[in-house]
Amino acid sequence: MDKEQLEQFRGILINLRTEIGGEYERAVETTNEQFGDSNLPDANEEASRTIERRLHLQMSDKNHQTLTQIEDALDRINDGEYGICLECGEDILPARLQLIPYARFCVECKENIERGTGQTG
Ligand SMILES: [Zn+2]
Repeated sequence: MDKEQLEQFRGILINLRTEIGGEYERAVETTNEQFGDSNLPDANEEASRTIERRLHLQMSDKNHQTLTQIEDALDRINDGEYGICLECGEDILPARLQLIPYARFCVECKENIERGTGQTG
């Protein structure tokens, strides 16, 4: 991958980080605001709040995971290892990186991992 492409992906990753980072902060804030009060809700309200809260936390977790992967990808750009599959060492297709700029594995390895043989090493 040439320097120009790397810089392009770096820009994409930084934008994505800002975008998801903002969402993550908001989700955590909303969760705290909505559920931090000490009023006792009735049973139905409590049930729906519990569901809502779980959704918020799930979203936060997923975003948090993505943020970590974005940070890792930016590190790999700095180390000159960006766009290389962590599993087999082959280049990850640029088309795949355009879809998922923080992808760590090539399509084949990702499928192998997701097929879940239980052996990730
Ligand atoms: Zn691979």
